[in-house]
Amino acid sequence: MIEELAKENKVKVDNKQFEIEFKKHQELSRTASADIFKSGLADNSEMTKRLHTATHLLNEALRKVLSKDIKQRGSNITPERLRFDFNFPRKLTEEEIKKVEEWVNDKINKALDMKRDEMPIEKALNSGAQAEFGHKYPSVVSVYTISAKNKEIVSREICTGPHVSNTKELGKFKIVKDEGVAAGIRRIKAIVK
Ligand SMILES: [Zn+2]
Repeated sequence: MIEELAKENKVKVDNKQFEIEFKKHQELSRTASADIFKSGLADNSEMTKRLHTATHLLNEALRKVLSKDIKQRGSNITPERLRFDFNFPRKLTEEEIKKVEEWVNDKINKALDMKRDEMPIEKALNSGAQAEFGHKYPSVVSVYTISAKNKEIVSREICTGPHVSNTKELGKFKIVKDEGVAAGIRRIKAIVK
């Protein structure tokens, strides 16, 4: 096709030079795809951090909007969404879902720092850190705290991570599903973008 075009335009094509350039181009394309693949993986782990950190805010939002007796009963993260199970007896109303989303997005918009401290499990629990119901923890745990600008604690959980260091990295939080999974246990699926 190149030769045809060249003939039409009365230009002589150097096939050998063309081949060399073509090989160079192929090599560049391969390198570019390898980079895309690598950054794709990096994005996945970045997304996991964002979604997981969002579960900390969701946990606290549910306690604020629905009931302070809410405890995490399980969590699962894929690159597409977070999944969070908790004790609550009924489906959330649209109003409640909106309030939870607003509470989380407000904390994201406020660009709050998250910091990690290591401490004995008793001290962590006494400091008000949330723990997953029924989960066995080691004697020394990592506690992740999100604080407001006035130092007030927004969220504190015993956790192993991974997390972002500031809530502004999360993006906009949205609940996409609320379903029952067992008697008295609800499951929320949510995304950040
Ligand atoms: Zn965590």
